[in-house]
Amino acid sequence: MTSKSCISIEGLSVSYGELRALRNVYLEIAAGDIHGIIGPNGAGKSTLFKAILGLQEPDSGSVSIWGQELDEVRKRVAYIPQKDEVDWEFPATVMDITLMGRYPHKRFFERIGDEDVSIAMQMLDKLGIADLKDRQIGQLSGGQQQRVFIARAMAQEPDLMLLDEPFVGVDATTESTIIKVLRDLSDQGKTFLVVHHDLSKVDDYFDQVILLNRRIIAAGPVASTFIPENIKKAYGSQSAILHKT
Ligand code: ADP
Ligand code: MG
Repeated sequence: MTSKSCISIEGLSVSYGELRALRNVYLEIAAGDIHGIIGPNGAGKSTLFKAILGLQEPDSGSVSIWGQELDEVRKRVAYIPQKDEVDWEFPATVMDITLMGRYPHKRFFERIGDEDVSIAMQMLDKLGIADLKDRQIGQLSGGQQQRVFIARAMAQEPDLMLLDEPFVGVDATTESTIIKVLRDLSDQGKTFLVVHHDLSKVDDYFDQVILLNRRIIAAGPVASTFIPENIKKAYGSQSAILHKT
């Protein structure tokens, strides 16, 4: 490996009852890149994130992040769940939500201070929604809501961010704003894992791609990995309608 490893997964298997969602996954995820995770519905993409984050107990296998256990590095890892797993009616303003990103840096009973507010404002500004800071989250469009959740994750100032289908239900402008923000941060050495299902954007958005369907089909640089042969293996009979444009 030429680049530094961020996540190292060894022999990871995850089941829900009888259903084996992930089978014997081995992965080395390099630091400082944007990695796309691609695969059909039910391929285990969200399960992979949950196992990395310790939200889903594996049957076997292990995950380390920067060579350490998740608990030791949790502050440095942010997660943006798939949209249908988030309660959008939660009564809070855009600023409240963004400031939640600062909590991992606070000790018990330590208050949010001016510096936290200033970091939150910077992130809202980067995402082009500073003017919405006092709005209730429930009153925003899908794209605006997603920007807020990205701003919260960025306010945490993480070195690793996992985004599960961040572009579902968002407008094209939001999508390009978000990808630009991720690109800037990855140029500064931050690592991103993005579950994504629009195959036409893979070449533009990602440095590395992981093709998944219950097991790893292929993983590596986009140019050599995101090829018809591997796409077909990942999507099986669905691949006829999902060809690259
Ligand atoms: P993806 O994100 O790639 O669509 P998931 O990781 O959500 O796939 O799901 C993988 C498989 O595991 C699917 O068959 C799904 O129905 C099943 N599954 C996911 N979460 C649960 C759960 N909490 N309980 C039971 N089955 C689940
Ligand atoms: Mg999913």
